[in-house]
Amino acid sequence: MDIKKEIAELNQELIDLRRDFHKHPELGFEEFRTSEIIANYLKECNLEVKNIAKTGVVGLLKGSEPGFTIMLRADIDALPVQEKNDISYKSIYEGKMHACGHDGHTAMLLVAAKVLSKHRNEIKGNIKFIFQPNEEDAGAEIMINEGVLENPKVDAALGLHLWSPIESGKIGIGNGPIMASSHYFKLTIKGKGGHGGAPHLSIDPINCGMHVMQAVQAIQTREVDALAPTIITFCKLQAGSSPIIIPEQLEVEGSIRCLHEGFEEVKQRFERIIRCTCEAHQAEYALEIKCGNILLNNDTIMAERVKVVAMEVVGPRNITQSNINVMLGEDFAEFAARVPSAFYFLGVGNKEKNTNYPHHHPFFNIDEDVLPIGVEMHIRGALEYLNRK
Ligand SMILES: [Zn+2]
Ligand SMILES: [Zn+2]
Repeated sequence: MDIKKEIAELNQELIDLRRDFHKHPELGFEEFRTSEIIANYLKECNLEVKNIAKTGVVGLLKGSEPGFTIMLRADIDALPVQEKNDISYKSIYEGKMHACGHDGHTAMLLVAAKVLSKHRNEIKGNIKFIFQPNEEDAGAEIMINEGVLENPKVDAALGLHLWSPIESGKIGIGNGPIMASSHYFKLTIKGKGGHGGAPHLSIDPINCGMHVMQAVQAIQTREVDALAPTIITFCKLQAGSSPIIIPEQLEVEGSIRCLHEGFEEVKQRFERIIRCTCEAHQAEYALEIKCGNILLNNDTIMAERVKVVAMEVVGPRNITQSNINVMLGEDFAEFAARVPSAFYFLGVGNKEKNTNYPHHHPFFNIDEDVLPIGVEMHIRGALEYLNRK
């Protein structure tokens, strides 16, 4: 099987699919159009197709002989971003855009499924192609709860993200923790309102809150090893209504991100500093913390397998370890926590083509010339796993 040639023959189809998804972006759990196109495409490839998790789709390719099952995952959702690109396939939906590359993910995995489906007779075991809705807000867990890892039981998983911080055509792969856990918090500091000119008669929640926001920043380095990346950011503050009235309370929201296993410890320190600072200021507080994403940990053996495949597809000079550890979350982590998995990046950053904007930016776009590389990575990744095991 001449993989490169077969992919090249489908190059126009690959680009057309991607541009069509780009033009019609749908937000998490609203990917009805996208999901229908995916399901029809997979049916035409003679795969067993199932809808799952509202707008998710699973296609199962059974090889000619029994064996292990590998899962390949693409996420299909868009973002609430107004596109500013001036391109023929610009989003036609107001305020919605594929600003993370998931349009490319969907197209690449569909074409990979088509190529692999023609070689059913050479495949031992099964390949599960999963098209996940709502990556930007926890769609993976729902797919798992609805049984995506069962029937047949998934033995390993691979996920690929197009990545603008990496130069076009390079593959970024690493072992261990690669994308951070993220937890969102809401902190309410309760004081006692009063006159701005007589603060000694009130309990000023804003003054207390400022001390809290400063103090918790010392957790990284002073309480957690500087080599265990930890970020605490405050992104929303709400208090007061007038320049002469001390408000009753201050509400702040933000996130805690850890690229290490020690979130519970960070959380305890965070709470302790809030408790003690509030006590010092005679204020009371309420704290809610919820999990956004768990830590994405790559399995060492699976990551090695991706490296072997990448050597073949792009060559050793185009494999990079830079820009692959990020403090952003990725819900592929839910699969990686349950089966040996690797998540890797394919660079789309090219200054000349204006494809080096950050993800989620209104000018975000991808270098389409790398899409065939992603297709080949999917195909060889699956074959390498099934043949070697
Ligand atoms: Zn994103
Ligand atoms: Zn993404």
